[in-house]
Amino acid sequence: MTPSPPGAAAPPLVFTDVEIEGRPGQTVVAVAGVVTFVGDGDDARREVRRHRRDDTVTIDGRGGALLPGLHDHHLHLLSLAARDASVDCSQPAVLDRAGLGQALRTAAAGRPPGHWVRGYGYDESSTGALDRAGLDELLGGLRSIPVRIQHRSGHQWVLNTAGVAAIRRVSGEDRWPGPDGLMPSDGIFSDVDGILRPLWSAGQGPELGGVGARLARFGVTGVTDATVTNGMAEIEVVAAEQTRGALGQRVLMLGDGLPARSGSMLCTGALKLVLTDTDLPSLDELTAAIVAAGARGVALHCVSRQSLVLAAVALREAGGGPHRIEHASVAPPEAMALLRGLPVTVVTQPGFITEHGDRYRREVDPSDRTWLYRLRAWTLVGVPLAGSTDAPFGDPDPWAAMRAAVSRRTAGGAVMGGAERLSEEQALGLFLTPLEDPGGLPRRVAVGASADLCLLSVAWREARHRLDHQLVRATFVDGKAIWGG
Ligand SMILES: [Zn+2]
Repeated sequence: MTPSPPGAAAPPLVFTDVEIEGRPGQTVVAVAGVVTFVGDGDDARREVRRHRRDDTVTIDGRGGALLPGLHDHHLHLLSLAARDASVDCSQPAVLDRAGLGQALRTAAAGRPPGHWVRGYGYDESSTGALDRAGLDELLGGLRSIPVRIQHRSGHQWVLNTAGVAAIRRVSGEDRWPGPDGLMPSDGIFSDVDGILRPLWSAGQGPELGGVGARLARFGVTGVTDATVTNGMAEIEVVAAEQTRGALGQRVLMLGDGLPARSGSMLCTGALKLVLTDTDLPSLDELTAAIVAAGARGVALHCVSRQSLVLAAVALREAGGGPHRIEHASVAPPEAMALLRGLPVTVVTQPGFITEHGDRYRREVDPSDRTWLYRLRAWTLVGVPLAGSTDAPFGDPDPWAAMRAAVSRRTAGGAVMGGAERLSEEQALGLFLTPLEDPGGLPRRVAVGASADLCLLSVAWREARHRLDHQLVRATFVDGKAIWGG
């Protein structure tokens, strides 16, 4: 079903025969988007009678678990939407350079003149390194179509000659608004997403309906958009998509230049800072930036041992908070010790072990491999942990991430960091904390809570063995169904 327009007060919502925190046969009532009753027996019967109105929505839970809606604490909505309309250049869709050429030519052949072919997930380990000339060669007779390919890291774009010419036209021939005023002649653009985005999205408004519907089927009721370049334009897109009912989820936005904004459907949070390994700030610079963020706190992107240690020392010096660390991909014991006791939450991606673990086993330095995407170790040192998918750089299905947190298995079946395994309940808990307090206590289905809910088709004791999004029967935000029902 399509989400009902926000603003309209939700009619009373009554669930019968649902399981709440292991208690079967419960009744739950939500009025005006807030849970007003959880219980059973005579009290429940009285409560159901009290809310019997023509427009009351009554759902027989048939014994299924009713959970708080899931929160994905780090993803990228607009990139996810763009990806749905793009060429998958990653394995296994593309196995080698010839396969990449084939995929790009197929996409280019169906493209109207002047329309970009956009690819994502390019991995030089399977296709070899790419540059402008290499892309032209792969495209052959279709090289006049502008093409851009995003590296799997999300931090680099490679453009063909027609693509470079297209952004030249938009940015004004030889004027390049990049850091040094010179457009890279090899077509390789690194860490300039914020400059490039307006150049190629001119006139094409993004559409988030597909993404919202997909996340709703997973039981997701709230997301944090952690895109560093988020600004007013992105806030306006998300707000507009929520207002027209296309995006039913609540959204918290991080970014490096966002105005403070509060609101129950859309608000802004910490200042996002990307610590790039090839260009790390000094300790003094980073400490000053954290202090300058004030009460908003920072969200520090750390994917290496060095950046995590630097972040930890700077957070110690700067104080303040609460802060976030995004990814903490490599967490050696010395970095964990430095973070212990600080008001900082680690927002990590358990699913990367399944999705990328086989590559990590080949490529990551053996001395770092033990410390990859740690989970249980964080809980043991008392550093709060929150879960996310980093979609589209990871699979947007949080249930897949939960399975990875429990199994620690790569797609190829190898166990990586088996000591980091979480229980099924801990894995679920990573996705239940509040958006604005990702390391806080998991939300509960209790009186006074927002009616952001995820109804499963089976009881938790069965669901915990499968952790499969197929078990999500319906999803509600503010007491209104955004999927199923
Ligand atoms: Zn990310």
